Amino acid sequence: MPQSRAIAIFTDLDGTLLDHDTYSWTDARPALDRLKQLSIPLIAVSSKTLAELEHINQTSGLFDGLIGENGGVIALNGNVEQYGPASETVDRTREEIKSAVTVPVESFRTVSQEIIATETGLPLEDAIRAGQRHCSDPLIWQPAAKDIALARKIAEKHDLTLVKGGRFHTLCGPSSKGQAMRRMVERLSVTWLEDAPENKRQQRFTTIALGDSPNDIPMLAEADYAVQIPSKHDKRTVAMLDHPNLRIAPRPGPAGWNKAVNDILDQIIGPDPNTNKNSEVLHG
Ligand SMILES: [Mg+2]
Repeated sequence: MPQSRAIAIFTDLDGTLLDHDTYSWTDARPALDRLKQLSIPLIAVSSKTLAELEHINQTSGLFDGLIGENGGVIALNGNVEQYGPASETVDRTREEIKSAVTVPVESFRTVSQEIIATETGLPLEDAIRAGQRHCSDPLIWQPAAKDIALARKIAEKHDLTLVKGGRFHTLCGPSSKGQAMRRMVERLSVTWLEDAPENKRQQRFTTIALGDSPNDIPMLAEADYAVQIPSKHDKRTVAMLDHPNLRIAPRPGPAGWNKAVNDILDQIIGPDPNTNKNSEVLHG
């Protein structure tokens, strides 16, 4: 059944759709099935590379579009668009940092796949995919505070930023998950709404975004409905942003994802008839 109203869902992966520890999305299965049934596009939005996201999608078939490297690169229907900085800019900036700081500097773009595997703790196959970067480059270095400050200044000069993730300082563009989401909505509007009946073509996408970390805030801020997924290990949850339609999911990970998506769809398009079968039987 095609949806009668244009809705698109944007989701972070780790700790949001995927369980923080097991990477399973099983608990989100009912809502995921409902999206497929309603032809609602689901877009993965992640700091992972496109190669990593494509690999996940080959085995799961969950996503209609992919946004990788924190918004720097977008893939829809086989077309890849790079919005982040050119790799030459990233390389030139990294080389300038390398000659300015006092510690040795290597990066995912300069070392072998085996070294990426060692540095990340990933199996070689996964390390190869993590190394296929379009527009961001995690540095491999042991910086002092003054090296970080200097590197930040050099990055800024080239219109780049140095972002501290879990383990690495990553050299990347000023693009964010929010900007990439806006661009993806424009592209979805062309491909999805083209096929819609004429009277539906003028409508805009209603967007739902789900995330669990500070780098998801620009994406949540852009969405009509924002869902903050609480942390599995930190019991206190504080709203990450002010948003008129923010809800904090009742549970962490895919179970909270499932409940939040189903509740919002119930609110926008009405309850799922499949979940009401039992009561119909009772009253029938
Ligand atoms: Mg996350």
